[in-house]
Amino acid sequence: MRGSARIADIRDRPPWLKVLEDELRKLEAVGLKRHLRQWESAQGSTGTLEGHEVINLASNDYLGLANEEFMREAFRAAAHRFGVGSGASRLLAGSQPPHQQLEEALADFKRTEAALAFACGFSAAVGTISALTGPGDVLVLDKLSHACLVDGAKLSGATLRIFPHNDLEKLDSHLRWAAKKFPRGRILILTESVFSMDGDLAPLAEIVEIKDRYGAWLMVDEAHGIGVIGSEGRGLVDALGLGPRVEIQMGTLGKALGAAGGVIAGSRPLVDLLVNKARSFIFSTAPPAAQAAAAHAAITWLPTPAGKARIASLEKNRRLLSELCRLPQPPPSAIVPVMVGSECAAVELAARCLESGFWIPAVRYPTVPRGKARLRLSLTAKHTTQHLEHASAMLLAMASMDAPQSLNSEI
Ligand SMILES: *Cc1c(COP(=O)(O)O)cnc(C)c1O
Repeated sequence: MRGSARIADIRDRPPWLKVLEDELRKLEAVGLKRHLRQWESAQGSTGTLEGHEVINLASNDYLGLANEEFMREAFRAAAHRFGVGSGASRLLAGSQPPHQQLEEALADFKRTEAALAFACGFSAAVGTISALTGPGDVLVLDKLSHACLVDGAKLSGATLRIFPHNDLEKLDSHLRWAAKKFPRGRILILTESVFSMDGDLAPLAEIVEIKDRYGAWLMVDEAHGIGVIGSEGRGLVDALGLGPRVEIQMGTLGKALGAAGGVIAGSRPLVDLLVNKARSFIFSTAPPAAQAAAAHAAITWLPTPAGKARIASLEKNRRLLSELCRLPQPPPSAIVPVMVGSECAAVELAARCLESGFWIPAVRYPTVPRGKARLRLSLTAKHTTQHLEHASAMLLAMASMDAPQSLNSEI
């Protein structure tokens, strides 16, 4: 009976559903099918994943702000005063005070003339890149650039050139080519300060030198730099003193800042132009005022003694993990990849971590290149010494059992 019922099901299923199901089956067969897990807690160093208490090494809430009382209070107070929804795009319905206060604080924090807040980092990138460049211009991207930079670049209609990760010679030759071939076009370089899946840094000082020689512009995605790099968490651009020489700084308010939203920081004309031309800003409902208020609370807290102490705790945890795992040096950011290689093996290892009480995601294609699957550990200021001792003991035990390409070989 069951068999015949199933046949009837298959016969009744419209062909387009079978097309989708086929695609899902193909993903599953090569270890690339993803599904959403149930995380039942607020963000924190521990929590409940589908009924199991685990140590959380998956979250980009690097400073533990997402569930901090002063953040909740800022959110609550703004929701009380301004309600939940913002009603429309800010160009239609106006900016509420928390949006303006947030942007002033972001410009102060980044030491730029102005800043513009978006609903998220992804829309900030896509809207900005496509507002600034189009056909006749050239975009030059690091190979490991985040999907939002890639998608913004594709959407712009500009000519794209990719350079191997952090390869300055190839960057230089792309710029030389672009300057010659498109003498009247804009040339914009896109890269991250801290790479999201490898945790390494871009050689920004060198990139700035090179781009200035060709009159190119530079957009730096600081999604994983803000709140992590520099004693006050202002990001790598600021830590290297490059602010005035970087045309466009981008970031998210949803990772170390513990809230949600995206930001572009730079000159006043840049921000004014984006208000006029960034379609993801213009044609999208403004984020809730409460979201802006929470991000504002985080941004103004970072340079305080308590904020600096929290950033120092994160740095201490980075050093501690590297000692415990016997890495050659501490990771330059809060992201520690454990390289595995095969997609299926990475999924299998992540499942074993979970059995041991650790929530560490396997990161696979298309987030990283094929055959470069890995476990991705996110360290936070809230992890205790004991959490890191247990995590490193487990990872070292797994490494000796499977002899995968050494712990963290990419750093
Ligand atoms: C997460 C991320 C973004 C997107 O920011 P959201 O605010 O989450 O949309 C952009 N760039 C990088 C490198 C990221 O990791």
